[in-house]
Amino acid sequence: MISLVNPSLPPAMPTFCLTRFRVFSALCRRLAAGLFCGSVALTPVLLRADAPAPAARWAHLKTALFCTSDDVDHLLTKPGDRQAALAYFAPLRLSKFYLENASGDAAVVATLREIAADLKSRGFEVSGAVVPAGEHGPLCYNDPKDMAMLEGRVQVLAKVFDEIIVDDWLFTTCTCAKCLEGRGSDSWADYRSRLVAEQSKRHLIDAARQVNPRVQVIIKYPNWYEGHRRNGYDVARQTPQFDGVSVGIETRQPTTQDQHIPTYSGYVFQRWIGGNAGTKWRSAWLDNYEMQGADNDFVAQVWQAVLARTPEIIFWCAGVLHPPAPSASNYPYLVERMPDFDRLAGMLDGPARGISIHLPLGSVGEYNIFGYFGMIGLPMAPCTTFPADSQTAIFTQHSLRDPNLAAELLARVRSGREVFLTWPLLQDLRGSELSRALNVISEGGTVASSTFRARENLWDAKPVAAARPFVFPRIQLSTWPYVREVALVREDADFGVLLKAPYLEGEVDVLNLPDNSYDLQRLPAPVLDAIRRCFFKELGVRLVGPGGVALYPYGERQYVLYNMNEGPAKVALRFPVVTPARGWKERMRDQNLTVADVEIGEGPWARRETEVALTLQPFEIALVEAR
Ligand SMILES: [Zn+2]
Repeated sequence: MISLVNPSLPPAMPTFCLTRFRVFSALCRRLAAGLFCGSVALTPVLLRADAPAPAARWAHLKTALFCTSDDVDHLLTKPGDRQAALAYFAPLRLSKFYLENASGDAAVVATLREIAADLKSRGFEVSGAVVPAGEHGPLCYNDPKDMAMLEGRVQVLAKVFDEIIVDDWLFTTCTCAKCLEGRGSDSWADYRSRLVAEQSKRHLIDAARQVNPRVQVIIKYPNWYEGHRRNGYDVARQTPQFDGVSVGIETRQPTTQDQHIPTYSGYVFQRWIGGNAGTKWRSAWLDNYEMQGADNDFVAQVWQAVLARTPEIIFWCAGVLHPPAPSASNYPYLVERMPDFDRLAGMLDGPARGISIHLPLGSVGEYNIFGYFGMIGLPMAPCTTFPADSQTAIFTQHSLRDPNLAAELLARVRSGREVFLTWPLLQDLRGSELSRALNVISEGGTVASSTFRARENLWDAKPVAAARPFVFPRIQLSTWPYVREVALVREDADFGVLLKAPYLEGEVDVLNLPDNSYDLQRLPAPVLDAIRRCFFKELGVRLVGPGGVALYPYGERQYVLYNMNEGPAKVALRFPVVTPARGWKERMRDQNLTVADVEIGEGPWARRETEVALTLQPFEIALVEAR
């Protein structure tokens, strides 16, 4: 096994690459050992091997299956195996197959043509797929041998297919002498994103079109957005270059898988990168590699795709959903939930709504912070350009990719709007006018405590006890202006957590992030409620309750809630009092919901809101709908 770890890369990336690389090797080993043969009759969802080809389709979803070249060899090449595989996957009601080819040998054209023709005759769409990687892992885009290999594979595919999807190995980590010389004084990010775009145009897109002028080439973006440009992916450059875009979710087990991506990021990736692609957005791509024992986390990926309304869901891959892969244990539960995905997809009505969050293409910042915001019930609406018009908007270090950021933020505040900034961003804006909004008297280092103080109204702030201590960067502020909406309390001081300062005609809100962003979703509910209140007026809804529950509003009367906690979650939606008090339903269980008027605070500052409360079981999804 060749080690692909490159110590110069961010830690999440190379191990991820290894993960995807290992699956091929692992499959190859299992296949070589003969374990695959005759193994298709193992799970309760199997149909008879001679069952007819699936004709059924979902009414509101389109599903597709990726087959690696090993999957093609072992599941689809012999007609008997193919029949059995089609019966096994029939419950997914697939519309489409992607067939990988890892060979430049023209002899495989006939085999691929035969498989494709048979699948098409059964009503499936069939496309080709290429994994731009060699035995040594990611390619060197300055190495003629690697480029010739890439050309060979796509030219084989272009002889068979009118569409080719490019698996997310279209990147490079190469640090050879040629690559260093080519980079010169550029950054790796600028150099590699230019190099890969130029070389993939020549050796992938153009090479395929030489053989088949009709061919459409689809780029699939990996979910490790934080390393995209440094390793050669550049959404701003490549989406215009390719014919279509597929966006990876692949959040797997968020707490144990080496990337640790919050599940809600899967939704954001679709809306951000897929949404930016417009009509080129083709699909979401999920996988369950090594996800045995984590059915809920796997299904959570599918929900993100459904809620983002992706045009197609690609399951990667046949080999890991099929015995003897250990992760095939996910398959029966996936099959069981498929009708629910379709049912919810069919019920969603109206545009997805959320809080504008500024995420320029190619930006990096606090790792997956938009995913953690989603995990605390803040619905995200990614904006690749500066959100000038909304009343509220979230800005993180990702915004720094916008060269006019400081001036645009100030203009927002001048025009009477709010800016919600993370503390790391405000620190990076030191010296700008906005950085003067807070009177910080001491900072640096960290503080830990399990006591917070959360303000309920202008003059009342109550202590909040957390189940465990949280660590925050230390922000100590002067007494006046009093900006501490939420503070971390110790015997020596109240330290800033959520700060709210009027400035010019608008308002500057600053959120200090816990040392580990993950801890956001474990903060006590009253602290999270205070954060969510910042967006209540514009959204017209806020979640009340613990973290780990995401909110997805559609139109003006639908609210999907998804509990991604291991335990039940008691939550409520709060609305302005004008909200109709009757006719609320939860549509997944088809239950009527009760509505209550609640009073918040006491005395002259008390205010009323309308509340719709419910309890969600672990990984339960609910569609709350007003009449
Ligand atoms: Zn190189």
